[in-house]
Amino acid sequence: MKALAPGSTIGILGGGQLGRMLSYAAARLGYRCHIFCPEQDCPAAQVSAAATVADYDDRTALSAFAEQVDVVTLEFENIPVETVRFLAEKITIRPGAKVLEVAQDRLFEKQTVQHIGAKPAPFEPVGSLIELEQAMQNIGLPAILKTRRLGYDGKGQAMLQTMDEAASAWDRIGGGDCILEGLVDFALEISVIVARDSAGATACYVPVENRHRDGILDRTIAPADIAAETAEQATAIAVRLASDLDVVGLLAVEMFVTRDGQILVNEIAPRVHNSGHWTMEACLTNQFEQQIRAVAGLPLGSPDRHANAVMKNLIGDEADKWQEILSQPGSALHLYGKSEARPGRKMGHVTRLWPLNQKPEI
Ligand code: AMP
Repeated sequence: MKALAPGSTIGILGGGQLGRMLSYAAARLGYRCHIFCPEQDCPAAQVSAAATVADYDDRTALSAFAEQVDVVTLEFENIPVETVRFLAEKITIRPGAKVLEVAQDRLFEKQTVQHIGAKPAPFEPVGSLIELEQAMQNIGLPAILKTRRLGYDGKGQAMLQTMDEAASAWDRIGGGDCILEGLVDFALEISVIVARDSAGATACYVPVENRHRDGILDRTIAPADIAAETAEQATAIAVRLASDLDVVGLLAVEMFVTRDGQILVNEIAPRVHNSGHWTMEACLTNQFEQQIRAVAGLPLGSPDRHANAVMKNLIGDEADKWQEILSQPGSALHLYGKSEARPGRKMGHVTRLWPLNQKPEI
């Protein structure tokens, strides 16, 4: 595909805040966005030129959408792979089905990590209560039972401290295809976001530290306070994964750094990522523009940062403090246009910057 001319339309599957911010970035480069998502009045549709409200398996709506856009990307990795395959017969879609299939399944994810020579947390696939009990013996406790598919932000997970908890955890999670993971006693959690274009060129943002609360990202600190060698290794892992999975667009790779400096890969997402929101204020080319550039066949921009940053998510009623945040001159506030502040719902975020030679206050 040659470079998409300004004025063209980029189709986005998914209508959340990531799609909303992709849409701003596309607009800056002269593109229009057309959102495809099942919900009315979604955050992305509020700021885009067009929207189709339909289910991801509605082939009539998908065909009409494909007719109206010049390229398709996504903001959500749980889009059914069949939807992506169906669209791919009609139009260029980036990233493609290959990376999506891996990112949607924790077992495939871990096998891919091993395939490129990196390490996941200790794990075993489990498909029954008996297999779970065996895996608990093999891996040791504490451990976390996770569904292979459709888990995010700590959903579809159960912590296991003792052997007696096996049956109740298995019931709570609803059985099915799962994996058991050993609990990693990490020093910190980091992520690397790599952009990759269709010619295989890559650009990486600096590794950042992610602090979670109740399984949801609370803060991102850029850069992560880790040894230069650890940062290099983490970056190299992200690039190898993006290349192995033929990603055109972005790949976010979440990793644990253990107390002895080892890196264990936790999760991947083939899209812009919550841990990259700080790039909007602190980098010349932010993650959203980078995904648009890769998808539109433009050269990647510089991922270098001109400031250190802390991004704080505003979850549930934390966003009620919007006026107070706006009265702090050094805070950049983003609100996602969601009408109802349910507990655990990401309503917005706020980023603060520090000079490059200064450690951010957390
Ligand atoms: P996930 O949905 O797999 O990203 O898990 C959400 C969060 O739970 C992670 O960011 C970690 O804070 C924690 N977590 C998940 N898996 C493990 C593990 N094997 N060991 C320790 N903490 C974990």
